[in-house]
Amino acid sequence: MMKACELSQQALVYAGEVLKAGMSTYELDRHIHDFIVKHGGKPSFLGYHGFPASSCISVNEELIHGIPSKSRKIQEGDIVSIDVGAFIDGFHGDNAYTFTVGEVSEETKRLLQVTEQSLYKGIQQARKGNRIGDIGNAVQTCVEEAGYFVVKRYIGHGVGREMHEDPEVPNYGKAGRGVRLVPGMTIAIEPMVNQTTEQVRVLGDKWTVVEGNNKMCAHFEHTVLITEGDPVIMTLTSH
Ligand code: MG
Repeated sequence: MMKACELSQQALVYAGEVLKAGMSTYELDRHIHDFIVKHGGKPSFLGYHGFPASSCISVNEELIHGIPSKSRKIQEGDIVSIDVGAFIDGFHGDNAYTFTVGEVSEETKRLLQVTEQSLYKGIQQARKGNRIGDIGNAVQTCVEEAGYFVVKRYIGHGVGREMHEDPEVPNYGKAGRGVRLVPGMTIAIEPMVNQTTEQVRVLGDKWTVVEGNNKMCAHFEHTVLITEGDPVIMTLTSH
């Protein structure tokens, strides 16, 4: 599984490197697809419940599950969330990052910083003896203290032989509640944060989820291993 997570991470890093203004989200997805296949993996998302691409690429007010498209051109000032998983040797990895293209506003930068920070606050709670609610509570507290909104309709998940497994990993909750964390569990923690509302809408393509008021939103994700000691971020292996 470490291998799958490493490939997932490398694909995401590579996507960030090739991402540039003028490129279509379809083109970016092709780069991601080819990278994973070239390294012996299979894109986890391709064909998942009929999903037609190898990554989810969500721009600006799009939160998650954006379908790569030839007509969607990335522009200077956009924020681009890329969510990608790789399957290799029987296991999946899963990770996401929201990139900036050129200059974005200070407010948007702050939204991205807070969302990424909330991911790490959640990861700090992913330890033996804690419960799922400790993770969600840490994420929610970080986000709400900054004045933003946790999306509750979509949540993190266990990950392993299947891309989505138990337990559910909400980005909200009460400390000390929920499934107890035990060494060996592997979970995807993925805060999804809106600027102005916890509401979201699903577009007519049946996939793309957007911020309820069409404002900015952000998404960061790591696959994390519960151990006897500190959590191990499996999709952060190159340093
Ligand atoms: Mg995920």
